[in-house]
Amino acid sequence: MTDPKVVIIGAGAAGIGAGLECQAQGIPFVIIEAADRVGGRAFTATGGLDRAWDWGCHWMHCANENPLVAWADRLGTHYKKRGEQDADFTVWDGGAFGDATEHAEAGQALDAVFAAIEATGKAGRDIPASEVMPDFGRWAPGIRTIFQLMSGDDPEVVSAAGYADYAETDTNWPVLSGYGDLIKRMATDLPIRLGVAAAKVRQTAQGIDVQTNQGVIHAKAVIVTASTNVLASGAIRFEPGPAADLVEELGDIPCGAYEKVAFTLSDMPAEFRGRQFATIQAGSLAGAVNFQIVEDGGPMLIHHIAGTPARDAVRAGPAAMTDLAVQHLVTVFGGDVTRLITGTAATGWTNNPLILGSYSHARPGKAAKRRELIKRDTGPIGFAGEAFSLQWEATAHGAYQSGRDVAARIISTLPS
Ligand SMILES: Cc1cc2nc3c(=O)[nH]c(=O)nc-3n(C[C@H](O)[C@H](O)[C@H](O)COP(=O)(O)OP(=O)(O)OC[C@H]3O[C@@H](n4cnc5c(N)ncnc54)[C@H](O)[C@@H]3O)c2cc1C
Repeated sequence: MTDPKVVIIGAGAAGIGAGLECQAQGIPFVIIEAADRVGGRAFTATGGLDRAWDWGCHWMHCANENPLVAWADRLGTHYKKRGEQDADFTVWDGGAFGDATEHAEAGQALDAVFAAIEATGKAGRDIPASEVMPDFGRWAPGIRTIFQLMSGDDPEVVSAAGYADYAETDTNWPVLSGYGDLIKRMATDLPIRLGVAAAKVRQTAQGIDVQTNQGVIHAKAVIVTASTNVLASGAIRFEPGPAADLVEELGDIPCGAYEKVAFTLSDMPAEFRGRQFATIQAGSLAGAVNFQIVEDGGPMLIHHIAGTPARDAVRAGPAAMTDLAVQHLVTVFGGDVTRLITGTAATGWTNNPLILGSYSHARPGKAAKRRELIKRDTGPIGFAGEAFSLQWEATAHGAYQSGRDVAARIISTLPS
């Protein structure tokens, strides 16, 4: 095989975006992926249930601008166009589901919290998001949980200015046939070598050597897309130089933790029907939790937790993580609800050695770091991924676009 000009490390959304850009420009390239599947944090699978569900990304965020919507249309992906309606969510608090007035109050409190974080960030105040979140008393536990899901970690460790770099458009469409499935299908025609793990990247007089578990690949340039936590762990080594310096600084934009437990049900509890989310504030049960309510394709609930509760749950193991979700359902609906459960499956992103977390956020005081790292010139060793997107940070479409952009930049510097 002739040497590729570009080696792309990782076949997640960013690696696939980079590959599609190389393909479009007629540049010989290969994608190496350590796992036995493509997609990375975009993954649609059953996990033993009777239908597939998204273990990682599920919503096409910023859907009115998201470049993956066009791919979804081209590939016949099934998604739902919807706005943010109040009726989308329900809140259980103090022993009962809220009424319409309480739902409106909880929704307004949530909007006010995100507006406060946004205003702080836009004013350039690089402080923990927790310091500017108004205390909405009764609704505070649920709001904290939603912030953890949106940022991937606790508000005490997330920069408000970094969070505000995300250009929210309030248009988020769930991918009913699976966001992971869409991203996998985008990669159908790309040259991807599965089970090939990069261990070391070395710049030589001739170009770049990528040392892998299957030998060395010689190329002119490399695009690295592993998560910031994987790179910060030292799993891929870089010789002293601009790339190694950048990797040293990735601890400032770490990935948080975010896990899901999926339940298939024989029937959907009436209080959940017609909704998209339920926040359960059960007081004693380790803070509020969030359930995604899925009715297309059969009744299913997906329990979402992030930040410290997710790390604690992963440490306790999948059985305990599942049990925590069941306990919330039992608190709300009583013990009989367990008879509706026909199957469960749990994610484990936080301890997956190829991912090591959820998605990135800037630490307080480090918002400028992400902005600077995106622009930094590291020569023929480029870095792409969700962490290297600014206005679409932490998302699948941000990762994809970052892959395309970095590939275009690298290609423009290649000797012909
Ligand atoms: C629970 C959860 C929910 C989410 N929900 C959403 C959502 O609804 N909408 C949204 O837009 N985003 C969401 N995200 C975020 C989104 O999934 C990610 O931002 C995006 O998929 C990251 O893509 P990436 O290519 O940057 O990284 P990754 O997907 O991590 O891809 C990197 C790839 O590199 C591989 N790799 C690692 N080390 C090596 C090595 N040494 N050699 C070769 N390969 C290696 C990995 O196996 C992986 O496949 C969610 C994430 C999680 C975890």
